[in-house]
Parts: sequence; C-alpha cells; structure tokens
Amino acid sequence: MKTKREDIRNIAIIAHVDHGKTTLVDELLKQSGTFRENQEVAERVMDSNDIERERGITILSKNTAITYKDTKINIIDTPGHADFGGEVERVLKMVNGVILVVDAFEGVMPQTKFVLQKALDLDLSVIVCINKIDRPEARPNEVIDEILELFIDLDANEDQLDCPFIFASAKSGYAMADLNDERKDMQPLFECIVNNIPAPEGDPDADTQMLISTIDYNEFVGRIGVGKIDNGSLKVNQEVMIVNHHDPSVKKRVRVTKLYTFNGLNKVEVNEASFGDIVAVSGIADIHIGDTLCSVDNPVAIPFQKISEPTLSMD
Ligand code: GDP
Repeated sequence: MKTKREDIRNIAIIAHVDHGKTTLVDELLKQSGTFRENQEVAERVMDSNDIERERGITILSKNTAITYKDTKINIIDTPGHADFGGEVERVLKMVNGVILVVDAFEGVMPQTKFVLQKALDLDLSVIVCINKIDRPEARPNEVIDEILELFIDLDANEDQLDCPFIFASAKSGYAMADLNDERKDMQPLFECIVNNIPAPEGDPDADTQMLISTIDYNEFVGRIGVGKIDNGSLKVNQEVMIVNHHDPSVKKRVRVTKLYTFNGLNKVEVNEASFGDIVAVSGIADIHIGDTLCSVDNPVAIPFQKISEPTLSMD
C-alpha cells in the first residue's frame, strides 16, 4: 500500500542563471545548522561541475540535504541554462515540488519560463521565491504580476496558480511570507517547504524500484547512480537487477557495494535506505541514466519518459 514519508521533502530549485539559487541553498544550509558557518560553504559543491565536465561526464545537478526540525529536505539543483538531453525533466522526476527563484529586479527571464513549464507539466507544487528584495531597484509587486501572467500563459492549474510567494534576500539571509513581515531569517521559507510541498509516496513493502536520475563519479568508487527510491528499500550488499532503459529486456544482476544518503553537501554512507529518500549507489560499473534498479525477483522498470496521462493497467 502507498504510504507517505512525512519525514522527507524532495524539492528542486529552478531559476534563471544568476537569480540566486546557489546563494539561497548556501543560506538554507547555514541556517539549518546542517554545517557550521564558514566551514563548508566555501566548497560550493553546487558549482563544482567543471572537473567532471572535463572528464566527459555530465553532472549538471547536485544534491544537498538539510534537516529542518524533524524533516529531511533533499534539495536538487537544476541547470540554469541549456537543457542537455532532458536533464531538467529527469531531475524533476525525483521531486514533488520546486522553488522557483526570481530576481526581484530582473523579473521573469527566458530560463524562468523554460524551467517553470517543465515543473508545471510534471504537476509539481510550486513555491515562488522572489529573491534579492534588498536591491534598491527591486520591484517585487510588479514581478508578482509577471509571474502570475507567466503561470496563466503556461496553462497552470488552479492549485499551481494558488501557490505561495516568499520574498527573500538570500544574500542577507532572510525570507518573508509577506513584504511587511520582519526581516529576520529563513524560517518562513523552511515552513513553506514543509507545509506546501507534498511528502514523497511509495510502497514500503513492494519490490525495490529506483530510477537512476543522475550519474556521479568518484575516482575511488567509480560510477555512482543517484535517484529516488520509489518503492521498497535498499541495503548494502543487496543483489539487484539493473534494467536498461533503452531495452528493458537487457537486465544485469549486480550488487550494491556502497549506499549513501545526502547530508549537507556530503554523501554519507548508510547500511539501508527506504522509499521516498534520494540516495546514491556505487559498485555498479555499468549504470546509466534512465536505468531502473530493481529487485532480482521482480525486475520492473520505471518508465523513463514523462507520463502525462493516466495509463491503463495491462494486468
Ligand atoms: P545562481 O546562478 O542562481 O546560482 O546565482 P548565485 O547564487 O550565484 O548569485 C548570483 C549573484 O547574485 C551573486 O553575485 C550573488 O551574490 C548575488 N545574489 C544572490 N542573492 C542575492 C540577494 O538576495 N541580494 C543581492 N543583492 N544579491 C544576491
């Protein structure tokens, strides 16, 4: 039976380039106490794609996880520019909602439109974060109207049109549900995420299924598959079947040698993880984006392409 993981939220941050995604995530990390101030912020892992790109491996999204009160919030960064081979859609399949970051002066830009369209098409919940409201030339009220117009242009549904707006200065470390509120900290944004983004759902007792959404690489462990566990759970040393996404008849029996969850900017080794969480697995040399990691007994692939209409069950 499908169950909600009330202790987890999976979100993506989407924005036009330079509207402040990285600054916002850094600030959420700092204020959640997930790491100490000045300690790891300098690493800015979310911006460290260059080396991997040189090696010819496309890693355009990076994961971060923060804990707010009793909730783990997995945050996925999305590319702010060109969409390489459906990268944005693929990472959005891991989440239930997005934070759309828009510069309070620049307003809606081409990439704002592009990424929002993808999120709306996937029926994701949206939180609009109008950022940089500290800028002297900020014009948040006009930007609200621009965004609402964009939602209408993009055929947003009623729920999506009714989405919460947050006003923030990521750089100064505050967010507000209303422009007249006190400018204090990021708590209003944390609360907004927990209260407005649906918890992930899955069947804890079903056979394991995890769609590989991104590939990471580490010189010690090799290829690392990242994705959300859709159903069941995963354990270290578990034997699983990798089902190829081009041809589901191509299956390979493999063993998960290491399993990680995310904490702050780090991957942390764990022995077990279950449905709803976003995890990384290593030990599988031949793992590719779009493959499904399944139980050996019942290896059923997760369709990689977006399904916009309910499909008829074949059984
Ligand atoms: P990204 O490309 O969306 O990740 O944007 P960054 O987080 O790298 O920010 C782009 C630029 O905007 C940087 O120079 C930031 O310092 C600046 N910035 C980010 N947030 C704010 C803000 O709230 N206020 C102001 N004034 N500048 C900001």
